[in-house]
Amino acid sequence: MVNLLPMATQSLLWQTTLNENAKSDEERAKILANPGFGKFFTDHMVDVCWSENGGWHRPRVQPYGPISIQPSAAVLHYAQEVFEGLKAYRHADGSIWGFRPEQNAARMQRSARRLALPELPTEYFLDSIKRLISVDAAWVPDLAETSLYLRPFMWAKEAFLGVRAAAKVNYNVIASPAGAYFSGGVEPVSIWLSTNFTRAGRGGMGAAKTGGNYASSLLPQQEAYENGCAQVLFLDGQEGTYIEELGGMNLVLVTKDNKLITPDSESILEGITLDSILKLGRDRGYTVEQRPITIEEWREGAASGEIVEAFACGTAAVVVPISDIKSAAFGIWMPEPSDERVSLSLRQELTDIQYGHAEDRHGWMTRLDA
Ligand SMILES: *Cc1c(COP(=O)(O)O)cnc(C)c1O
Repeated sequence: MVNLLPMATQSLLWQTTLNENAKSDEERAKILANPGFGKFFTDHMVDVCWSENGGWHRPRVQPYGPISIQPSAAVLHYAQEVFEGLKAYRHADGSIWGFRPEQNAARMQRSARRLALPELPTEYFLDSIKRLISVDAAWVPDLAETSLYLRPFMWAKEAFLGVRAAAKVNYNVIASPAGAYFSGGVEPVSIWLSTNFTRAGRGGMGAAKTGGNYASSLLPQQEAYENGCAQVLFLDGQEGTYIEELGGMNLVLVTKDNKLITPDSESILEGITLDSILKLGRDRGYTVEQRPITIEEWREGAASGEIVEAFACGTAAVVVPISDIKSAAFGIWMPEPSDERVSLSLRQELTDIQYGHAEDRHGWMTRLDA
């Protein structure tokens, strides 16, 4: 029997090895001036081991660099892996903050359960991020809409080709400075509706943040690019009639009578951005409906004027308005709004909270550098 009980009363004893080849202030400044996304990494990373017998152990902050694993490591063969994505934001006074990081910790536990990986206790998750920030704080940029993207991930390290949950696992956190997602202002995007591929099926891993779901989205994503679209929208795997989500973002429709509608399905990943946007919408008096939505309802609603806006949301881009849906058979065109888009106004409110420009009335922010 695998012992998944968190050692709640014992805190991990961290060991930190500083990177002797850390980037100079000039090199780092050059990177932070134009970081893009996911291309550059900070000087350090978190590395924690787990084994069936020893539980979580050997927690380290060490120089960022290659990891040595056996070619037989289970993750390379059976994709037993989960990950998270969250940002650290620099506020005007120089302090560094996370947005609902305990929600990422909880989601990583749910993902881990589905992938038969051990559950990392929330306090370890938060601790690991704070430890990394404590040595790489200078990597958190301070320009508008920039952040340090944090990527915690857990993977099956055991060298064994038998098919079962691995008895040895690794947890790491790496960090990558992220530039403003939209440099020239937020532009609505075209979305490709995949009618021949799905990302998840009933009882599958759709609700888990795991590499396998992304692997399955890459081919349809290529199809999207070929058709001039930025992202793919997937339908449900059962009937192919209900809208689910994009490859890495959730979906919301706005109706003319002030409703925010988002798909309800067990194979959708529960986005923290989505949850937060819906809460801000409720605060403004919007009615929130989480229910199955057919692609036909969207098509008819857009044509009749019932559905006035559509947008995607997720940590990386926050909120992106959708201009149109393309598929092999038909298209959906969203109207040009006469007023400010609801999506962009909600986006502004959320980023104002994240960057400390607006009051954090829901208690979402966590200090990471103290
Ligand atoms: C991460 C992710 C999202 C967005 O979640 P956030 O917590 O808002 O970043 C949506 N869909 C998928 C498939 C994801 O992996």
